[in-house]
Amino acid sequence: MRYAVLGTGSVGRTLAARLAGLGHEAVVGTRDPGATLARTGTDAYGNAPFAAWQSAHPGVALATFADAAAGAETVVNASSGAASLGVLTAAGAANLAGKTLVDVANPLDFSHGAPPALDPVNTDSLGEQIQRAFPEAKVVKTLNTMNAAVMADPARVPGAHTVFVSGDDADAKKAVTALLESFGWPSASVIDLGGIATARGTEMLLPVWLRLYGVIGHPDFNFHIARGGTAAAAGA
Ligand code: NAP
Repeated sequence: MRYAVLGTGSVGRTLAARLAGLGHEAVVGTRDPGATLARTGTDAYGNAPFAAWQSAHPGVALATFADAAAGAETVVNASSGAASLGVLTAAGAANLAGKTLVDVANPLDFSHGAPPALDPVNTDSLGEQIQRAFPEAKVVKTLNTMNAAVMADPARVPGAHTVFVSGDDADAKKAVTALLESFGWPSASVIDLGGIATARGTEMLLPVWLRLYGVIGHPDFNFHIARGGTAAAAGA
């Protein structure tokens, strides 16, 4: 499968490396490949310059957002949440049409300082904004409730833990669930919450995640939904 991973940060790098390791074609998307490769020094999150990362991952190509999306069968949005609508506009609606668009971004709003707020929140979500802006794409929100390393390697967190899936297209969610399973997520760990509007709930877990990070002190943790009662009683 050919994947475009739109984003050069921790998430884009981690998911692109995992996809390439599984034998997929992975192209990372960025605003300006030349400028991205020319960067030196670590980024705001302490990541090595992209060129250093790419030389350790020679199988992963770098292209503009549009070129990456044009060649892909499935597109992953791993861009800054505040920039995601612009990134996907740059990728091009025609390059997203008919494709599964895996949205991993969170609409973090740092304008009031840290910890960040969310915008949109409560009555809307970034996942819904993306689906409205690109109605021909099949948006599936997932993996946004954990750290990048855990997304691609759930065994970093011992025991059972949960990944959520939200989206309006049943086949796209099925394909994304299969992708999650290929990353190592047991099928029992995947909870399909329903339509893309349920992304409001998973995006709103971020303020909780950030405060847990402050208490736990490292990012190798995740949410686990423990269920009581029988499947029938729960209406499952
Ligand atoms: P990030 O630093 O949030 O985003 C980096 C990407 O955003 C880069 O590709 C950058 O483009 C693009 N970008 C930033 N500002 C832009 C602008 N004004 N216009 C166009 N593009 C812009 O990277 P990240 O930490 O990997 O996170 C990616 C997404 O996943 C975010 O939405 C984040 O909330 C979410 N998330 C992150 C984690 C995590 O562990 N980090 C976990 C869960 C969810 P260039 O390549 O051109 O610089």
